[in-house]
Amino acid sequence: MQKLIEGHRKFLAEVFPAKKSRFRLLAEGQSPQWLFITCADSRVLPDLILGTEPGDLFIARSIGNVVPVTSHDVDGVTATIEYAVEVLKVPHIIVCGHSDCGALKAAIDRKRLESLPKARRWLDHVGAAFAHKQPLNPADGESAELAALIRGNVVAQLGNLRAQPAVEQALAEHRLTVHGWYYDILTGRIEEYDEAAEKFANLGS
Ligand SMILES: [Zn+2]
Repeated sequence: MQKLIEGHRKFLAEVFPAKKSRFRLLAEGQSPQWLFITCADSRVLPDLILGTEPGDLFIARSIGNVVPVTSHDVDGVTATIEYAVEVLKVPHIIVCGHSDCGALKAAIDRKRLESLPKARRWLDHVGAAFAHKQPLNPADGESAELAALIRGNVVAQLGNLRAQPAVEQALAEHRLTVHGWYYDILTGRIEEYDEAAEKFANLGS
């Protein structure tokens, strides 16, 4: 725990004073422009890789960056999506998968989930990734199969996202855009899914 305590001391001594005016505004409310749906993985740091600041990103995280198919069950991700769209009125939602994702490794090798009843049920939602598996990219080397499936999961979850009632309505009213991203930990690069071309390309290219 010492690392965290020291980190917080440093934040209070250095970071907070430098951003004090921003925190004063944020103390009274937020108006984030992006809902960022990503994996719980410790290697995915949205603010670090996107240059965003406190107040910028509304974030929903879970293993496998899952958007559950609409059902009568309540879960943290779909509740967060509903709040972001209906209350915060975010104009963009991004679903961001990442390289070396353990959730997709488990989808390939279900034995990994035998003793994890809750994770197993949650990761049933990534099963659709197989139907959307992307072409192999030689640049991914030995991880090409896994990376193609992770990209497929982004496409699958994007479909689930569009089917959320709040999202469906906001899209129909042209007040929302949805995006599918793949973040590569080794290179630091982000790819964006082009729905018209049905393929991933470097973000901003
Ligand atoms: Zn992951």
